[in-house]
Amino acid sequence: MDSTTFNKFQDSVSKVLVRHKSILDVVTKYQESCAKVNRAVVKSATSCGCIKISAERQNIPDDASYEELSGYMSSHIDGAPCDVCRDKIEKEMGNHLFYLAALCNTLDLQLDDILKSQLKNIDTLGKYSLY
Ligand SMILES: [Zn+2]
Repeated sequence: MDSTTFNKFQDSVSKVLVRHKSILDVVTKYQESCAKVNRAVVKSATSCGCIKISAERQNIPDDASYEELSGYMSSHIDGAPCDVCRDKIEKEMGNHLFYLAALCNTLDLQLDDILKSQLKNIDTLGKYSLY
């Protein structure tokens, strides 16, 4: 996805978001949309059953190097979202992105600038970019 797509998306959001213009509406809708993403993932396990969540302590050998860590880390997910669940999760993620763009518009921030800055941090700092 190039810069043009992010800028077009943010511009389109600014044109269609009329009803929830207040920062209070935007931040609460943003939070609500995040909860809906999480709920769609959980419902894939608890309603549909296409995924199973089997969480347990990560089993990492004491002498494992940082480079070896990803080989020992588990997502705790068995299976994969079916087409119906995948569609629902993607829809909720899209809605979440909508309100992220709306929050950027309300605060006069450019989503594309934020993504570029974050990408630069990741490329420059690698594993040290995480906090
Ligand atoms: Zn499913």
